[in-house]
Amino acid sequence: MLNIILFGPPGAGKGTQSEKLIKKYNLTHLSTGDLFRKHITEGSDLGHQAQEFMDAGNLVPDSVVIGMVEEKVKNETNSEGFIFDGFPRTVAQAEALDRLMQENGSAIDMMLSLVVDEEELLKRLLNRGKISGRVDDQNPEKIRNRFAVYNNETTPVAEFYSANGKLFNIEGVGDIDHIFSRLTETIDAIV
Ligand code: ADP
Repeated sequence: MLNIILFGPPGAGKGTQSEKLIKKYNLTHLSTGDLFRKHITEGSDLGHQAQEFMDAGNLVPDSVVIGMVEEKVKNETNSEGFIFDGFPRTVAQAEALDRLMQENGSAIDMMLSLVVDEEELLKRLLNRGKISGRVDDQNPEKIRNRFAVYNNETTPVAEFYSANGKLFNIEGVGDIDHIFSRLTETIDAIV
């Protein structure tokens, strides 16, 4: 199995690069943001629990996120590995993921962190908001709040993997295919 965490702030390009990586390495894409949006569209209980946090640009509580990820991982019995996108976002989520992987007889192989500066991120998100209609991408105040949440609550997750020698920083600005090459070179050098 190959289990990768694609890490980085909102708008760093995790979704775009995940789509390319799952094809090349035959992996399962697990995006917690996408899963929540699906629950909201379906009007499920979980969707109702998540919506107010997401609309404000705050984190959904760990217990809700972790339960949803556990269910998804356990249902994907034939998977050759996962790309985790937007998860883990807190140290408690990272610890839960380690336990879950261990129970599955596998482990997280690496965290690839896309590095992009905030001005570029803000531009990309406002542009995405125009195209996708995502409410959390349309308001600069909400976007700034997501950056603050990322800096305060999520960056410690990178330190968690760095301590195990599993963190790799990847320049996330430039041509999509060049960024993809940087990612695959790093993956191929490790596996
Ligand atoms: P982005 O990375 O651009 O913010 P996502 O689609 O990953 O977009 O996430 C959108 C929102 O979903 C987040 O702002 C947050 O409210 C919620 N969310 C997604 N993943 C998590 C998570 N792992 N923990 C808590 N909240 C999450």
